[in-house]
Amino acid sequence: MQGPRSKLLLKSYRKPFRDPILKKIRNQFKNREYKKLPYCSRCDNDEYFRFLGLRERTFCQVITNEGDFEKIQLKVARYRCNKHCRKIFIASDAPFYSNCRYGKQIVDLCRFLAKEHPVLEIERTLANIAGIQIDRDTIRRYITKFKVTIGPHKNKKCYTDFIPIIEKFLFNDDTKRKFPMGRKSWTKHLYESKSIDIPKPLFDALREYGKKNDITLQEAIQELKRVWDSGNKQEFENILIYNPPPDSKEHIRPRFQVDKSQFEFIEDILKEKNRYCDNPTDFIRRALTWYMREKGYLPKKK
Ligand SMILES: [Zn+2]
Repeated sequence: MQGPRSKLLLKSYRKPFRDPILKKIRNQFKNREYKKLPYCSRCDNDEYFRFLGLRERTFCQVITNEGDFEKIQLKVARYRCNKHCRKIFIASDAPFYSNCRYGKQIVDLCRFLAKEHPVLEIERTLANIAGIQIDRDTIRRYITKFKVTIGPHKNKKCYTDFIPIIEKFLFNDDTKRKFPMGRKSWTKHLYESKSIDIPKPLFDALREYGKKNDITLQEAIQELKRVWDSGNKQEFENILIYNPPPDSKEHIRPRFQVDKSQFEFIEDILKEKNRYCDNPTDFIRRALTWYMREKGYLPKKK
């Protein structure tokens, strides 16, 4: 792949903005290691993995004050599922989407900005204000991949208006919550967080259900919630069990973030199980896995 050409940035933004942001990016991401064990949904395995070593990945590229590009590298552990399937996974706390070269935080930042700003403006702003190199074609790829809805473009903002947005996506507590360093009680996460990741099996079930009934995913979620609220557990089970997820060949388990309030009701399913979990994602995942196994969709645990 051809690398980007060197860029000279506006000098006036260097000291007040670029330098501090670059320092933070280096502190937070450079050479950091991500090693948390993954979860194999095919084998319901979260403990038997073979460690395959650390692999360097590029969190982002930044532009130095000389106008050169520097890769901010971090290290991501790879594992092989040693229970049955021998699939390869990356560490579950690694900040990457599948098939995206740069880190999740960078991708999410671009997705957010792309809703209201032209790609060229995003490219220039991120470079000048944060020293982050991301070219417009990459942003366009994210728009396509994540189906970003582009609203009416806002009037061109002052560069500095982007600072809080950059801070929020790159460094705020959400980031820490999403990639926690240690084990914390999931209840704390659950109540602190505004959004959760839907586990893939549930997402797929809802998508299938939506397709069959010719409704959107959002409507399918609403429908599932309505059924749950109505107390008709049989119907609720039917939605999940008769819309089994297609066999996934992806090596990295994708997640889909939704507004938490839409999924709070899932907590109730497993309140009595109260298993120890790291975070809401873990909790929902375990809850759903348990639920689907109870219903015979997944093989019983050996
Ligand atoms: Zn497996």
